[in-house]
Amino acid sequence: MTLSLGGLFKQQAFINGEWVNAYSGKFSVVTNPATTEVIGNVPLMGVEETRVAIESADRAYRQWSKTTAKYKATVLRQWYELIIDHTAELATILTLEQGKPLNEAKGEITYAASFIEWYAEEAKRMNGEIIPSHKADARILVSRQPVGVVAAITPWNFPAAMITRKCGPAFAAGCAVVLKPAPDTPFTALAFAALAQEAGIPDGLFNVVTGDAVKIGAELTGNKKVKKISFTGSTAIGKLLMAQAATTVKKVSLELGGNAPFIIFDDADIDRAIDGVMIAKFRNAGQTCVCANRIYVHDSIYEQFIERLQQQVALLKVGNGLDTGVTIGPLINRAAVEKVERHIHDAMLKGARLVLGSQQVSNDCFIQPTIIRDVRDDMLVASEETFGPLAAIFSFSEDQEVIDRANNTDSGLAAYIYTQSLSRAFNVSEALEYGMVGVNEGLISTELAPFGGVKESGLGREGAHQGLEEYTEMKYTLMGGI
Ligand code: ADP
Repeated sequence: MTLSLGGLFKQQAFINGEWVNAYSGKFSVVTNPATTEVIGNVPLMGVEETRVAIESADRAYRQWSKTTAKYKATVLRQWYELIIDHTAELATILTLEQGKPLNEAKGEITYAASFIEWYAEEAKRMNGEIIPSHKADARILVSRQPVGVVAAITPWNFPAAMITRKCGPAFAAGCAVVLKPAPDTPFTALAFAALAQEAGIPDGLFNVVTGDAVKIGAELTGNKKVKKISFTGSTAIGKLLMAQAATTVKKVSLELGGNAPFIIFDDADIDRAIDGVMIAKFRNAGQTCVCANRIYVHDSIYEQFIERLQQQVALLKVGNGLDTGVTIGPLINRAAVEKVERHIHDAMLKGARLVLGSQQVSNDCFIQPTIIRDVRDDMLVASEETFGPLAAIFSFSEDQEVIDRANNTDSGLAAYIYTQSLSRAFNVSEALEYGMVGVNEGLISTELAPFGGVKESGLGREGAHQGLEEYTEMKYTLMGGI
């Protein structure tokens, strides 16, 4: 490594406060999607190492949960400050393994840190309730207790933020975490663990186990000491983990795939809508679960909208995320590129037209930002999440028609609407079967709000005070004879 990574580039897993290798001595290789060069290796762990991590988490949480809220808050705050102090190194590691432009990586580190800051504060507000009792000599107390050991399984698209969104509330509530990061992006997770240790997170409270997803996942979902699974990733794996977790009746939080509609009505502020599409479609090269997948534009502004969007998309610069001026990095791997190409070709075969981009098949992880028009609901791009920089522009004429089409999916994560009408803003957002709606806003993620989906997009919420509750169990105590 010639880049300065401040000692945060770790090639071992982190269990019980120690940097360790797999029992087998085996490693798996991590590559940079921009160059396909090897960045480093991480231990290829399995069931045994995961079990040890769970046991150390179980011991650690029993001590940690007894500490005061103020103590937990102080340690979390310290972790937050260390993350902010090391933004440059963390962002470089993130871009090396994930590919996003360095500026976006820095933004993700700040966003990731915000969850630690917020839950450091929220730790002090894990309040209970006293309910007027049914008996004169009794009191009804409702309190919140930590669930215990949490298994966190995270994806590669936000290698930092998806970790802190789970660890922040878990630690604030008094829980311990065994994290399995995505195999493509383990180094950001390990760097966060190094800073957690420096901040005073006790040994065993935060463990990062790298390696075989199926084996680690089986132990995390099957081990009775794990009380909760928090997963962000594909709907297929979410369903599998939910079924596995059922055998020991664990609590489950799932943040799964989306197929976000982005609806632009005839009364919309078009400049604002273009800004919204640019961020909701092209951020992270289109690889977010809240990315606009189906852009519905009212007939009367269709031509004008496409022309203006084309001007903005033409300004995007594709390249290695470490190079200055790059706004679109590589996709995570070849399979991701092939999926985007499949969506483009399917749409074109069925009558869509190319506005911008290339139909040429690429042989690396880069793909030009592409716009296709005259897209219809029978094309693959309408029913599958593209997860790439392809803007598919549909048209519509009636409000009820576009609401029905937007809801015609098993997903229900994020939706966006652009209108100047207050009545439309309320009525359409209420009618959309989605967990989150952006009205005249293309970027809705913040630690202050409950993020999550309905239908097959998931269970539970991350962020806000609701995000803390996910890591607690409610206890009702009847105090009698008083
Ligand atoms: P993607 O297709 O975007 O990579 P996945 O759902 O496959 O999404 O991956 C999200 C996370 O789930 C990753 O950390 C991955 O290693 C993990 N994962 C994949 N398969 C399993 C499994 N069978 N058990 C546990 N974790 C898994």
